Amino acid sequence: MSTPYPEMLNTTLQLDELIEPVYLTESCGKEVKWDVLRLDKVHPVVSGNKVFKLGKWMKHATEKGYEGILTYGGPYSNHIHATAYATKAAGLSSIGIIRGEKTSPLSPTLQDAERWGMQLIFTDRASFRNHSRSTMNATSKRHPRYLPVPEGGFGMEGRQGAESIHALIPGNAYDWILCACGTGTMMAGLMTAAVAGQKVLGISVLKNNHDLETHIRSLLPEHQATSDILTDHDHHYGGYAKADEAMLSFMNHFHKRTGIPTDIVYTGKLMRATDDLIRKGYFQQGSRILTIHSGGLQGNRSVKEGMLTFF
Ligand SMILES: *Cc1c(COP(=O)(O)O)cnc(C)c1O
Repeated sequence: MSTPYPEMLNTTLQLDELIEPVYLTESCGKEVKWDVLRLDKVHPVVSGNKVFKLGKWMKHATEKGYEGILTYGGPYSNHIHATAYATKAAGLSSIGIIRGEKTSPLSPTLQDAERWGMQLIFTDRASFRNHSRSTMNATSKRHPRYLPVPEGGFGMEGRQGAESIHALIPGNAYDWILCACGTGTMMAGLMTAAVAGQKVLGISVLKNNHDLETHIRSLLPEHQATSDILTDHDHHYGGYAKADEAMLSFMNHFHKRTGIPTDIVYTGKLMRATDDLIRKGYFQQGSRILTIHSGGLQGNRSVKEGMLTFF
């Protein structure tokens, strides 16, 4: 696998083990093929897209002689979790600016991060919102030896890192690539790396994510700046990190049928959206669809015990 930090990945895994079928369906009279790219399997701890998005940021930090990385996230953030682990593995330090007040006990995500040596700084929601994207601010200036990385790894480095996800997808085997969007960094990388005729559709997991397309466009190279950005804002199922009984039930059912575990914030919604779009006949007859399982399973630790059958 070609990522900037291959030693962090599960290298005993074969590429073809990462792609798994969901189904071949004839619902609504159209037959489509639906596969999943299991990025949740690439590493036992830092699963999913975050490890890819972080690669270039960490390279940048190392090459420029930074002591570590300073970044932002909520108490269940996959990005905080992955950054704490990956920096430690690379011999860098890390500071996490955490949204909201410190709780006791800490969330399982933050307990892990602290155990891996991340220094946690809690900040109120308003200042978090102001600082988590534009990283040049009072907090980051107080830590000049740390490379500031926006929330979710957003930025050119993040996009370039996400391009390496596409390298795991064989040639032109798919007409559609579907991914979940938070910041849209992963989607931008998939779009940049897509082969001719391949469409990338991003499912927003946030409600009122109005700036998503603008943010994605800002990460695209000039020759792609005018390309269509295919996003879907109708499958956030109530908004960020909201998961009602119907969602948990879908996730349990999906796992029972396919053996694939999903997370409540991103991939559960992505799979449910894909299923819904297929049923509604969104894709043409014969479409070959690949959904990116971007990991995030650690976030399921916020779900009440017993609600998920596979976790
Ligand atoms: C962060 C994350 C995403 C969203 O990635 P963006 O690049 O911010 O759009 C999707 N899935 C999982 C599991 C994530 O942790």
